[in-house]
Amino acid sequence: MTTKYLLPEDRIPRHWYNILPDLPTPPSPVLHPGTLQPVKPEDLAPLFPSRIIEQEMGMEREVAIPEEVREALARWRPSPLFRAHALEKALGTRSHIYYKYEGVSPSGSHKPNSAVAQAFYNAKEGVKRLATETGAGQWGSSLAFAGQLFGLAVTVYMVKVSHEQKPYRRSMMRTWGAEVFASPSSQTQAGRRILEEDPKSNGSLGIAISEAVEDAATHEDTKYALGSVLNHVCMHQTVIGQEAREQMALAGEYPDVVIGCHGGGSNFAGIAFPYARDKMNGKQVRLVAAEPASCPTLTRGTYAFDYGDTVKMTPVVKMHTLGHDFMPPGIHAGGLRYHGASPLVSSLVHAGVVEAVAYTQKGCFEAALLFAKTEGIIPAPESSHAIKAVVEEARKADEEGRERVILFNLSGHGHFDLAAYDQYLAGGLEDHEYPREAIERSMGNLPKVELG
Ligand SMILES: *Cc1c(COP(=O)(O)O)cnc(C)c1O
Repeated sequence: MTTKYLLPEDRIPRHWYNILPDLPTPPSPVLHPGTLQPVKPEDLAPLFPSRIIEQEMGMEREVAIPEEVREALARWRPSPLFRAHALEKALGTRSHIYYKYEGVSPSGSHKPNSAVAQAFYNAKEGVKRLATETGAGQWGSSLAFAGQLFGLAVTVYMVKVSHEQKPYRRSMMRTWGAEVFASPSSQTQAGRRILEEDPKSNGSLGIAISEAVEDAATHEDTKYALGSVLNHVCMHQTVIGQEAREQMALAGEYPDVVIGCHGGGSNFAGIAFPYARDKMNGKQVRLVAAEPASCPTLTRGTYAFDYGDTVKMTPVVKMHTLGHDFMPPGIHAGGLRYHGASPLVSSLVHAGVVEAVAYTQKGCFEAALLFAKTEGIIPAPESSHAIKAVVEEARKADEEGRERVILFNLSGHGHFDLAAYDQYLAGGLEDHEYPREAIERSMGNLPKVELG
């Protein structure tokens, strides 16, 4: 009985898979936030190095991974694929459950897969410093680590409420040499303006994005880096699904269903896009994105053009959105609290290639605890949404008298989220209602786009 399927280092993928040329419908243009007309590559040049801009818009299906990036990935890749024998037994299911574990990276999630690639291209083009935002700290810590590998300084604007409530991710970022500011900060005009209006502001991801973008745009040697949503980030994550396909072949199985949790879309894209390619070539496989019911972007959002951030500084893209000024309730899966979604995943949901499901947090923590007690790994609250979806898939298969092969992405561990587990164990965790009114209100503020 095999428990884990491992690949040697020389099986780290040599290419990323770019799904853009394979989308069932051609991609929508990216619009300038001021003019609402398509951006040109040079509009993005103050923010991103040229190779990243090319990757964002490129139509090349396979993009070679530079040797330096493969060497960086080799510190933790290929990541293991596990068969969840103990979870299967506890569920009493006939289905076979497999998981790809991304918590083996230095920062404990899938995010360094893109951080090392972004740091590499910036360093190669002579950039000296990266500015970014972080909510709970997963992206900030991943970029701090990657910056250290490639000799870049990293400045992180961390949402103030998390800066105070999640001190240990802040400590990680500083350990890896990054400079961390609680956002809103007095470092930027955007931050100072907010502090003047409200000196006690808790901050938000939208405000932190504005600060990081302003920092990059106003410093010659500094660029901006984003940890999810964008096409190049999703592409960098496809090493996950490519490895998983090989590991599933070692196990002698092909999944009936592939599942990932969904915040901005990057870990889901990572495991699912290589299988979406199979599916578009005629393979039978279902792809399921699992999101929180209190921030139900894919299941309840509108497929429309919207801003990426609250203060309308980022480009406007076509995606599933709850409205750029929608403030999701404060659930513990901080990485899933985003009003929008990856335009690539959105387009695949719209085309019916990807399915989406939504769950409330108590059910997800219950599934996470069952997973921790059986498989041992304590999952990140984000990943627990995928586990809940797995439990539901196995249950449905048993009810139908079928045996299903289920593969999911365990996007990270929950070692920095133990306060949330404490709260769940003490019975103090709340399920939030579907925030209908807040969503209806913010949907009224979508930009009115007329393409000439
Ligand atoms: C950031 C994060 C997510 C959500 O982001 P995606 O871009 O949707 O993947 C999920 N899981 C973990 C562990 C994260 O750190």
